[in-house]
Amino acid sequence: MYKKLLVLSCCAPCSCAVIKKLVDDGVDTTVLFYNPNIYPFEEYQKRRDEQKRVCEAMGAHFVELAYEPEIWVEAVKGLEQEPERGRRCSQCFYLRLKKAQEYAQEYHFDALTSVLGVSRYKDLQQVNTAARKAWRMVGKPYWAKNWRKDGLEELRRALIQEMKLYAQTYCGCRYSLPTSPRKDTK
Ligand code: SF4
Repeated sequence: MYKKLLVLSCCAPCSCAVIKKLVDDGVDTTVLFYNPNIYPFEEYQKRRDEQKRVCEAMGAHFVELAYEPEIWVEAVKGLEQEPERGRRCSQCFYLRLKKAQEYAQEYHFDALTSVLGVSRYKDLQQVNTAARKAWRMVGKPYWAKNWRKDGLEELRRALIQEMKLYAQTYCGCRYSLPTSPRKDTK
């Protein structure tokens, strides 16, 4: 178990159980909100505010990096028509994980983990592949734990209900918006 951990998070529903578990286990936990993929800005603000609320309720530190959608748009150029779980998502994960790696390195965290693969709509192996690539580029250990296991999925569902967390209806980016078949992210 790491003492000082950075958790890259996409949203409150995916991260709530992980944050609770880590804080309860005595881990000095910082949640990094770096999501230039989220569109539009009003949606970004909603997800960020919910993330902050969860961190405050559970005793984790919260860090928001600059919202820079133009960097994300550039990173996924040419992949706009890819389906969810396709190559656009690999680029999206890598961009965010690399930034998180750099933050973890600069502020001397023991390791980095993320909740980008927690939703059932996500491919955890795809997230882990992007995370390993970012790790090789920057050098901070990445904890590739499956945060859906060990009772965390049940805890997540309970916390979503209990805290009445905002449940978004699409993954986040402008290209996932019109075609997304999902009804929620749970
Ligand atoms: S669908 Fe989700 S993971 Fe894929 S590119 Fe869009 S925001 Fe990123």
